[in-house]
Order: sequence, then structure tokens, then C-alpha cells
Amino acid sequence: MSHTDFSTLALNEALVANLASLGYQAMTPIQAQSLPPILAGKDVIAQGKTGSGKTAAFGLGLLHHLNVKQFRVQALVLCPTRELADQVTAEIRKLARAIHNIKVLTLCGGMPFGPQVGSLEHGAHIIVGTPGRVDDHLRRGTLRLDDLRTLVLDEADRMLDMGFSEVIDGIIQQTPASRQTLMFSATFPDEIEGVARRVMRAPERIQVASSH
Ligand code: ADP
Ligand code: MG
Repeated sequence: MSHTDFSTLALNEALVANLASLGYQAMTPIQAQSLPPILAGKDVIAQGKTGSGKTAAFGLGLLHHLNVKQFRVQALVLCPTRELADQVTAEIRKLARAIHNIKVLTLCGGMPFGPQVGSLEHGAHIIVGTPGRVDDHLRRGTLRLDDLRTLVLDEADRMLDMGFSEVIDGIIQQTPASRQTLMFSATFPDEIEGVARRVMRAPERIQVASSH
């Protein structure tokens, strides 16, 4: 058994079995380095190029910690754009195929509010969205994050470039202090360090040079 085997992790067996059916035979370097601290519940900042497998790193982490019987929003993934949010939603749904009745909901701008509000009334375990629209729902009271366990800032560098810093801070204020915070980025500008100091607790830092 190689150290890049998913089965070396303390990961739910159903999740591991599903990975084999997806053709994921070994962890990518960023997955091999970030999953142990993520599964241990630590805050993690991970930097890796596009295509290095960051989505499965945080996706498996949030799914591992999720209690499907508790039908409340337990994980929130913030992404810079609707296209990225759709990709992340699709990947999380693939990773979650082994978990019955799991609900993943995408909340992005440029889409009408009505259907989103309807979906939120039905409930969800995981929300993937853009900061602006997630903030809108929090302000309207159509989304609550009191039971949030995992917060993911995906493509954090791009979200900061787009000026989302204050909106993200506002969203984080609506989440429990006990949450686990995971930050993923392709680059590591100084501003990221500022965010980490504000919203993370003793984060583990992971940097992967090559993509695979
Ligand atoms: P990033 O967010 O780092 O740019 P993605 O999470 O989008 O990268 O992953 C890139 C591609 O690699 C996706 O198509 C994903 O399904 C695939 N992938 C991720 N992890 C693995 C793995 N361990 N084995 C095989 N393919 C993987
Ligand atoms: Mg990505």
C-alpha cells in the first residue's frame, strides 16, 4: 500500500469505495498533504496550481465531517465565480455519490432569487456559492449558518482580487467560531496572510510546487 493510497486515510469507507469507482487511484500531492490535517479537524491553507486536485481535498474533508441525518447547512464553499461554483458543486456531488439523501445547493448571483429561496426552504447540507449572493441570503434571513462546521474559501486569491474581502468577513461573522476553516489558492499574496490571521486558528500551511 502506497502512502498516496486513499485507504491510508481515516476516511469513511463508503467515500473511499466511491473514489475507486470514479477512477481516483491515488491522492495527488496536495491531497496527500492536506487531507490528514483536514480530517483531523485542523484549519488548513493550501496552495497548489490549477488542476492539482484541490476540490477533492476540501470536498472529501467536508463530506467526512458531515452528518447527513442533521438536515442543516454544515458546510459552505465560497468561490469567485458562478462557473467555478458549478464545477465545485458537480465535483462534490460526484464525491458524495455514496452518501444517500445528501443535498448540495449552489447559490450564485445572476440567477433569480425565488428558486434559491425555495430550495433553501427545503434545506441543504452543503452550500456552494459566490460571496455576494450568499451574503444577500444571509441579510434576507433566507440562509442561516448557525450549524456550520466547515468553511472553505476556494480560489481565495481571486476572491480577494475581485474585492470580496469585506463581504467574506461579513459572512464569516455569521458562522460559529468553532468552525473549521480551509483556504485554497493558486498563489499566495500577502493579503491571504491577513485573511488567515483574521479568520483561522493555527492553520497548517501546505504548498505544492508541481501539479501532479
Ligand atoms: P484544482 O481545483 O486544483 O484546479 P480540481 O479539483 O478541479 O483542481 O481537479 C482537477 C481534475 O483532477 C478534476 O477533473 C478532478 O476530477 C481530477 N482529480 C482530482 N483528484 C484526483 C485524483 N486523486 N485522481 C484522479 N483524478 C483526480
Ligand atoms: Mg479549484
